[in-house]
Amino acid sequence: MRQDQEDPYQRRSAQVYAAADRAAGSVASPRAVLYDAVLLDRDGTLIEDVPYNGDPEKVRPVPGARAALDRLRAAGLRLAVVTNQSGLARGYFTGEQMRAVHARVEELLGRFDAWLVCPHDDADGCDCRKPAPGLVYAAARELGTTPSRCVLVGDIGRDVGAAMAAGAAGVLVPTPVTRPEEVAAAGWVATDLPAAVAEILRRQQAVQPSTPPTEPVRTALVVRSDSAGDVLVTGPAIRAVAAGAERVVLLCGPRGRAAANLLPGVDEIIEHPLPWIDPAPGPVDPEAMRSLSARLGAVGADQAVVFTSFHQSALPLALLLRMAGINRIAAISDDYPGSLLDIRHRVPVGVPEPERALSLAAAAGHRLPDGDEPVLRLRRDAVPPRPADVGDPGYVVLHPGSAASSRACPPEVATRIVGALADAGHRVLVTGGPDERAVTARVAAAGGTDLGGRTDLAGLAAIVADASAVVVGNTGPAHLAAAAGVPVVSLFAPTVPFGQWGPYRVPTVRLGDAAAPCRDTRAASCPVPGHPCLSGVDPGDVVDALRTLAVSGGGGR
Ligand SMILES: [Zn+2]
Repeated sequence: MRQDQEDPYQRRSAQVYAAADRAAGSVASPRAVLYDAVLLDRDGTLIEDVPYNGDPEKVRPVPGARAALDRLRAAGLRLAVVTNQSGLARGYFTGEQMRAVHARVEELLGRFDAWLVCPHDDADGCDCRKPAPGLVYAAARELGTTPSRCVLVGDIGRDVGAAMAAGAAGVLVPTPVTRPEEVAAAGWVATDLPAAVAEILRRQQAVQPSTPPTEPVRTALVVRSDSAGDVLVTGPAIRAVAAGAERVVLLCGPRGRAAANLLPGVDEIIEHPLPWIDPAPGPVDPEAMRSLSARLGAVGADQAVVFTSFHQSALPLALLLRMAGINRIAAISDDYPGSLLDIRHRVPVGVPEPERALSLAAAAGHRLPDGDEPVLRLRRDAVPPRPADVGDPGYVVLHPGSAASSRACPPEVATRIVGALADAGHRVLVTGGPDERAVTARVAAAGGTDLGGRTDLAGLAAIVADASAVVVGNTGPAHLAAAAGVPVVSLFAPTVPFGQWGPYRVPTVRLGDAAAPCRDTRAASCPVPGHPCLSGVDPGDVVDALRTLAVSGGGGR
């Protein structure tokens, strides 16, 4: 329907969800691409920001907007505008004036598939004024897709916050009014609208193989060393390889083994530490390396795909694989690989780890089959039933610890968070590993239930799956939550980029100081006295974050 044939303010105001709900019946069958739709903020993103503008003559597109939007249209992406217009609530312009402005926008920039407008003021407490996620949910419904298949482009933190709270991707295109802390907190930043569009299309393309494998793959050896979280975020890429191979053998390290057991698509696991990957590596034992090489040779793989994190090298293992007789090896490598790799793949900084890995799988000729969403997933049969004594679903899980102390929530902060959540009516389960019992006991004493040491990773996955939200740092359980589609309040220490390691494709609110001095240090223990990135988290902000994620106290959701 054309916008000039209807009343977008009346029909498309997020107050009117009924029409959008009906549209949800037309959800397109998911394809193995990242995005169906691009949502665009209006003022400061598509057009120059003229405060409370009701005059079509003052509409000025940002440079390159028309051509950039036409590129998205040509790529088959649907477009919606999601815009806060509190000037309506404040009476600065009328709905009719706003529609005239939107008609002028379409005259200059081409047609949009939907317009979603929040007409409220902050004081209205609506669920659609960004950073609340209501407009993103409504846009996705109206476009016949889901938020996780949308990417939102905006110029301020409210835009990115709304995208993330709905589980959509958010791109920040800063302008002079964008605050530095908003830029620091954003996981994806582009210099201007055309650059944002170019990167959206590049990421979309990067997970599609340009050519299928030249020869069929009977056995694929996939490799992901390192810890549980690393293995979990590689899951979509391993499923893509599994879709193109008859058998998948996964080489993982001891710290990733429990996560490897949870991954769909893996037929067999080889567990072996790689001393050049481990943060606390043992010495290189020549005999152990010879025995690993022999073991890898016995796999009989006709292809190896070596997944690494952005700061790890795949080349030492590639040499072992060559010595094991494997002659088709793919890996990401900025370092010159010589004859160690057959497919040397490169990825720009900032791409989410699951997409980074999917793009390597694509370079090796593999893609997710239609219908398999590019989200984290676990094998159902590997997750045990939830223990009965933790109560009914609908609790909030707080997981204060992390294998890397730089990414753990300080116990005193976690304690105050538990108290604030309990006061707000939430049932809180405090989880942690066997070596974190002292901390979980102390934290839970503020009003939660202590489950420290009660679960292994699979058991924790079961508890997380029935939570209404998980409050957690940048550590494995955040990815368990993403795999279960459970919203995350991410207490994210900025030691590594949020855009790469933030919870993937799940509603998320990020808290903590994104500009703290530990930023991008990759430190395992906090290099700054007082752990300032997380010690300043206000427990009230966690309560507010749950409200933004539509998680209410009293066990409901
Ligand atoms: Zn609103």
